[in-house]
Amino acid sequence: MTFKELCIIEPILKAIVEKGYETPTPIQEEAIPPTLNNRDILGLAQTGTGKTAAFAIPIIQHLYQNNDRNNRTISALILTPTRELAIQISECITDYAKYTSVRHTVIFGGVSQQAQTDALRKGVDILVATPGRLLDLMTQGFIKLGSIKYFVLDEADRMLDMGFIHDIKRILPKLPQQKQTLFFSATMPDSIAKLSSSILHNPVRVEVSPTSSVVDTIEQSVYFVEKNDKSKLLIHLLQKQKPQSVLVFSRTKHGADKIAKILVKANIKSAAIHGNKSQNARQRALSDFKSNNISVLIATDIAARGIDINQLELVVNYDLPEVPETYVHRIGRTGRAGNTGLSISFCSPEEQALLKDIQKLIGKKLTAFNFNAEKEILTKVFQK
Ligand code: AMP
Repeated sequence: MTFKELCIIEPILKAIVEKGYETPTPIQEEAIPPTLNNRDILGLAQTGTGKTAAFAIPIIQHLYQNNDRNNRTISALILTPTRELAIQISECITDYAKYTSVRHTVIFGGVSQQAQTDALRKGVDILVATPGRLLDLMTQGFIKLGSIKYFVLDEADRMLDMGFIHDIKRILPKLPQQKQTLFFSATMPDSIAKLSSSILHNPVRVEVSPTSSVVDTIEQSVYFVEKNDKSKLLIHLLQKQKPQSVLVFSRTKHGADKIAKILVKANIKSAAIHGNKSQNARQRALSDFKSNNISVLIATDIAARGIDINQLELVVNYDLPEVPETYVHRIGRTGRAGNTGLSISFCSPEEQALLKDIQKLIGKKLTAFNFNAEKEILTKVFQK
């Protein structure tokens, strides 16, 4: 299957070829044709599957073919939970819409609104937004949603996890009844199923890699390690393997900061990224990571949600997640787009039950190592 066979128009084809996409991913193959046919979509897909292009490309195509886009009233709204995701979606649209005259902008909280309202005043076709800032600018009269024709709710499960349900319930009635809605979620608990059925009309359900399935190309191992030895183990692994791009997951923001400090002390270039960091600090850490100035990023689950990094070599679960599905999300960041990936989880005696749940969900046992054994060897080496 090619993008051309999906009836993508020439200006977009040219842009995606430049972006290096050769063939559509499964979610794109499944979702693009019904979206181009104006159907509502219920998409079950996690980050890393190519879902952004799956919803963005058909919308750009429709807007391009729609002559009334010169009105520059907002025709498409893409709602996403985090600023990082919003920026990432916006960057993708910049690329895909490069050879069309479709205009877009992105709004999110935590920064001054001036540049955002200036961009809105000039008029845009597509608005990418996080819920809080959207409501804020709507209340101030900068944004009207009365001419929305396309509405995307991205990462719906994360939206609910982050407590955005009330914001969403305030936004929904402001949208016109007549519109096309594309609803994406990585998981489908009851609350999401209920929400989706309340806003979708006769949707086409598309699904790729259910949450329990882990990409086959990821090598997964677990180290049994005492809680107090985790930082030693991390330094040891990073020094031994010297990976170029590592994402380390910490359960707490405080923990992420602590790990970053320990690594920097060990001369390993790293930075923590989480909700307590300023927007600027987060962006700087991300761009340092993307340009290989630092090789290790330590993140909490929520902060990591929006990070789009290709060819991530290693994912480390410094703390095991409380929810087993989160493990699948986390390690999905390595082994993307046909690359082999590596994930290493640290499991302290207190976390044994969490490991059991993860192995049950993914239906296999992780390759296990015991740090105590390695530590003995390491200690001998250091003592020499
Ligand atoms: P997403 O799931 O939308 O976050 O996309 C994950 C990554 O896959 C992004 O870096 C995209 O640029 C990339 N991607 C999306 N579609 C394709 C494709 N058809 N071929 C290659 N890479 C893609």
